[in-house]
Amino acid sequence: MTTTYSALSLLKEGFNGQKGWAKAWTSPEPKSRYDIVVVGGGGHGLATAYYLAKNHGIRNIAVIEKGWLGGGNTGRNTTIVRSNYFFPESVRLYDLSLKLYETLSRELNYNIMLSQRGMISLAHTPAEMEMSARVVNAMQINGTDAELYGPEDVRRVLPIYNFGQRSRYPALGGIWQGRAGTARHDAVAWGYARAASKLGVDIIQQCEVTDFIVEGGRCRGIRTNRGDIRADRVGLAVAGHSSVMAAKAGFRLPILSYALQACVSEPVKPVLNTVVVSPGTGTYASQSDKGEIVIGGGLDRMPSYGQRGNLPVLETVLSGLLEMFPAFRQLKLMRQWAGIVDVVPDSSPIIGESPLPGLFLNCGWGTGGFKAIPAGGTLLAHLLATGQHHDISRPFDLDRFARGRLIDEAAGSGIAH
Ligand code: FAD
Repeated sequence: MTTTYSALSLLKEGFNGQKGWAKAWTSPEPKSRYDIVVVGGGGHGLATAYYLAKNHGIRNIAVIEKGWLGGGNTGRNTTIVRSNYFFPESVRLYDLSLKLYETLSRELNYNIMLSQRGMISLAHTPAEMEMSARVVNAMQINGTDAELYGPEDVRRVLPIYNFGQRSRYPALGGIWQGRAGTARHDAVAWGYARAASKLGVDIIQQCEVTDFIVEGGRCRGIRTNRGDIRADRVGLAVAGHSSVMAAKAGFRLPILSYALQACVSEPVKPVLNTVVVSPGTGTYASQSDKGEIVIGGGLDRMPSYGQRGNLPVLETVLSGLLEMFPAFRQLKLMRQWAGIVDVVPDSSPIIGESPLPGLFLNCGWGTGGFKAIPAGGTLLAHLLATGQHHDISRPFDLDRFARGRLIDEAAGSGIAH
């Protein structure tokens, strides 16, 4: 149930031990049957349930989460939102997401702390500069905002960068997307959860899906550690564990799973006013509203389900960062963590019906699915409600691997996964 708190009630709660807060979402016992079940209580699963209820009027839905909401990658990411991709299919997808993010706080009545502070993807060499120009052109042709920045622009947006003569990674310029930025990851999950719950969606945590109910060659529901749940259609949004669930459903996905790490420094006064990515060094950073420098980089080298990450990758990321921002040498590192991400050979997600009819996929977001949550939810909801692709999700169907119509964003925009 959603309650609006006045300033007076906030004050009252402050004095009465905060006993009057209403729960943001209900936690009912699972029913034995729903119209639709969505597996995975991360951003994509929760957004799917919300858009099913809101856009399609389907209310007899459950989101099934084995742990707690946002405890997967949604609560582990570095919160960057952007749509700086090369191929038209990708720009349509990620720009839909960015547009939905731009109005999401109002839509959900929940402050997701969207901060469109802009993002610079640095070019350190003439070859990278040439590639940046191509990506900027492609982005503009595809209808999203992008500018090609030169060295003076970089000086303006990154005054603390190492511009010294002997800089190992000179900043020649790069791709600027002004609408890119950050959003508060937990708030995105909680906002969707609260809004979905208000529309009648059952949000069930501590409930692990252990298998699928398959009858007549079709998925008819799920088996969980809290009993069987039947459903007409099942959506799967379990980033990092999509292959594990696919194996239970009897098919394989073109996915390898890796640990992806991130870390934060102690909080400091504002020094970094934009998101900075250096594809050349495999490093990126932004400053959180709290003041921490939030640092991320590339995947661990070996596929693994070990959700901690290894030291050599962290060392590479931090050495790249310190070359670019020598002032950060003084900072203390406060926390490091990792999440497991599902990586697809063409570095684009998979959205569509699985080889098991009745089971629908939203997976393979690799290192970049936080920014895609509103679009991923919209598109999976469309599929689950209608059984048909939305125009935007059609190119991302699993059948692209049989048709040879790959959307190779690693080659196109140079993304790391
Ligand atoms: P998740 O949030 O992982 O949710 C899946 C849920 O499924 C989990 O809660 C899990 O517990 C549940 N689940 C799994 N198996 C079962 C089961 N058997 N039964 C029931 N529930 C199950 N993306 C960006 O766009 N920008 C970034 O800056 C960014 N940085 C990142 C940094 C790091 C360190 C990491 C790890 C990822 C980053 N990402 C980023 C990627 C992004 O976090 C993910 O792509 C996105 O959160 C995926 O959302 P999801 O809802 O699909 O998955």
